[in-house]
Amino acid sequence: AADEVIAESKGHINVVCRFRPFNDKEKEYGEKTSIEFNSDQKSVAVIGHDTAPLLFCFDRVFPSSTLQQEVYDAAGKPIIESVLEGFNGTILAYGQTSSGKTFTMSGPSVDDPLYQGIIPRMVKTIFQNIDEASEHLEFTVKVGYCEIYLEKIRDLLDPSKKSLKIMEDKVKGIFIEDLTEDYVYQESDMYQLMKFGTRNREVAETQMNEVSSRSHAIFMITISQSNTLDLSAKTGKLYLVDLAGSEKISKTGAEGKRLDELKKINRSLSTLGLVIFSLTDGKSTHIPYRDSKLTRILQDSLGGNSKTCLILTCSPSLYNEQETISTLRFGIRAK
Ligand code: ADP
Ligand code: MG
Repeated sequence: AADEVIAESKGHINVVCRFRPFNDKEKEYGEKTSIEFNSDQKSVAVIGHDTAPLLFCFDRVFPSSTLQQEVYDAAGKPIIESVLEGFNGTILAYGQTSSGKTFTMSGPSVDDPLYQGIIPRMVKTIFQNIDEASEHLEFTVKVGYCEIYLEKIRDLLDPSKKSLKIMEDKVKGIFIEDLTEDYVYQESDMYQLMKFGTRNREVAETQMNEVSSRSHAIFMITISQSNTLDLSAKTGKLYLVDLAGSEKISKTGAEGKRLDELKKINRSLSTLGLVIFSLTDGKSTHIPYRDSKLTRILQDSLGGNSKTCLILTCSPSLYNEQETISTLRFGIRAK
């Protein structure tokens, strides 16, 4: 086993990591790995080939065989329960391109019960909860879906809106001005919107080189409930973020405009890291929310009374060892 412990979990943010199975390319490479899972389900060792052995400890570690349901139970369920109580919540999927962010957040399909990712499972829980709630609770559920690409916010439910602004007011807090938000009344409405937005994202992808691996996708659900007996009301906002690929610039061999793009994207991920780190170390007086669109949008939903879960997605392959270590390090900083 590894002998150097880099960090242990203690923080306010739930940090979990998930390894996907080997893909075809990695199988051709011989399924070589440097990852060792521990039976405690909380730590994973990288038996270094380029580095000394490293042991990473998180709130939970999911090996390749993990079912979508298990990830949902550990990462999604506590957050949706808290949002239904009127708090804000955020789930972020962080990892290199092809490591399983979209598989984990949305799934390969939004309506196949076995393979549904976290978002469709949350949606199911929301409507189950509404169905079972007492009669004097009235719910409204609103959905928005946007993408941040090169620091521009695009509305995925109305792609004609390409550069939306972030605003702040006393009642609403921080919000995206003019963003399409649709009311949804049942599970299937929400799945329709997810598919519609994701299709709009893919259309842009074929027009501009690989947008989807370079952009952050944010699926937003706002749940308001009012009690007709005592007239109390509460609202919980949920941000589900499929982040841009975290891979290092050198590996992709980008130049010129592409290189500038990648730098912008890496900068927004490092700002996210800084914000999460400042929130969890408890010492920082300045939290740099304003340094990126993403952290500005999430400002009300990170820290404070909000629940946050960071999901690190990784490849098990030796071929990706450096990216995996860099992903795991990002997660350790967040603890
Ligand atoms: P990312 O969004 O990080 O770029 P994807 O979620 O698209 O990566 O995953 C890349 C490929 O690997 C997809 O074909 C996906 O279906 C597959 N995959 C990812 N995670 C898993 C998993 N846990 N189990 C099975 N297949 C997975
Ligand atoms: Mg993806």
